[in-house]
Amino acid sequence: MALIVQKFGGTSMGSIERIQHVARRAVATHNAGNQVVVVVSAMAGETNRLLALAGQVTKRPHDREIDVLLATGEQVSIALLALAIEELGCDARSFLGHQVQIRTDGVHGSARIRTIDATPVEETLQRGAIVVVAGFQGVDEEGDITTLGRGGSDLSAVAMAAALKADACEIYSDVDGIYTTDPNVCERARRIDRISGEEMLELASQGAKVLQARSVEFALKYKVAIHCRSSFHDGEGSWVLPEELNVEGAIVTGVAYDRNSAKLTVVDVPDVPGTVAALFQPLADAHINVDVIVQNISFEGRTDVTFTVPRNEADQAVALANAAGAVHGWGKLLCDKQVTKISVVGAGMRSQPGVALRMFAALGKAGINIQLISTSEIKISCVIEDKYTELAVRVLHDAFELEKPPSERGV
Ligand code: ADP
Ligand code: ASP
Ligand code: MG
Repeated sequence: MALIVQKFGGTSMGSIERIQHVARRAVATHNAGNQVVVVVSAMAGETNRLLALAGQVTKRPHDREIDVLLATGEQVSIALLALAIEELGCDARSFLGHQVQIRTDGVHGSARIRTIDATPVEETLQRGAIVVVAGFQGVDEEGDITTLGRGGSDLSAVAMAAALKADACEIYSDVDGIYTTDPNVCERARRIDRISGEEMLELASQGAKVLQARSVEFALKYKVAIHCRSSFHDGEGSWVLPEELNVEGAIVTGVAYDRNSAKLTVVDVPDVPGTVAALFQPLADAHINVDVIVQNISFEGRTDVTFTVPRNEADQAVALANAAGAVHGWGKLLCDKQVTKISVVGAGMRSQPGVALRMFAALGKAGINIQLISTSEIKISCVIEDKYTELAVRVLHDAFELEKPPSERGV
């Protein structure tokens, strides 16, 4: 008997018919002789709907209350799915985050999982029932509800798989696996059979939302293999293998884009020690994640600093940087929300020169201007104008011949 964790996201839970479909899948896995834990997200669009409701009440929502609100989406899903499973004649029991004892730190909105006490789940499985767990939520030391960041049900599933020492962790969504880029943007995208955890972490961190980045980080740490599959049809899917390196031997494995960035430029910054730290200190204090950073060469003792932050935190970042500027004497702040970060990722670029040049040349040939560049060992990112996102994805996909298996690529 195997223990299988299956996670179904918002689209898979998007209607009563779809919930009934998920129930049939879970029952079929159970009837094949397995113990089954199903982790689910809120129904499609529900988390955004709840956020919009809060937005009608206040412009400065309290994080704790937002988590109380958002967690209701998953509560509806687990109850409906457990009822649908029972209707098929199989025992089911739903659990909220605090009942599974998914204990987190107290950072509302992006809490980190500390421990899971899986005993109640194990006891329920032993009684022969299917366990249905609310994704995306946990409980902190104060007993308050926390949420794990957008897309966080992926993390709930991986963490449950690790805690239960599950034989499989299956993540079901509206795509039948991990592709060389978002298949909804580039129809030439090719499904990847097996990808290293390291490359998947980089792709997810750069915006490939097929898996939440933190879930991949967790899978790497606890050596959980993730199997991404389609909710709607059977197929091989894709495997994320935490212990492998560059499974396919590709130079570039995929292209990702992140439309959730804003670009801030601080002009006329005094070029003296400590100024950049003074600029970023209030942002760090407010838990704002600064991403790409570029500082210009100094001219007559003054310089410019440009950086990106999550788009929904841009206004707060501008206010904080302006307030600090009044003390430290830098000039005005420019904010551009119409930007996208586009990245090529591949473990093979460690040993292959010329990847950056190929990327820049392909964007240049398509008339796409590069605003900022940042690199790490296995990725190159460019910030570009938002309206060119789809074009840039396709152009880069073609430039690296990602539609072909790596062995047939000329690059
Ligand atoms: P769920 O709601 O089930 O968690 P998501 O919408 O979060 O599903 O993730 C699936 C989506 O991820 C797909 O519809 C696809 O548009 C997008 N996506 C982005 N990059 C990739 C990629 N490299 N491979 C597959 N899907 C991708
Ligand atoms: N419902 C949450 C969200 O929309 C969590 C998830 O879908 O994984 O982000
Ligand atoms: Mg998701």
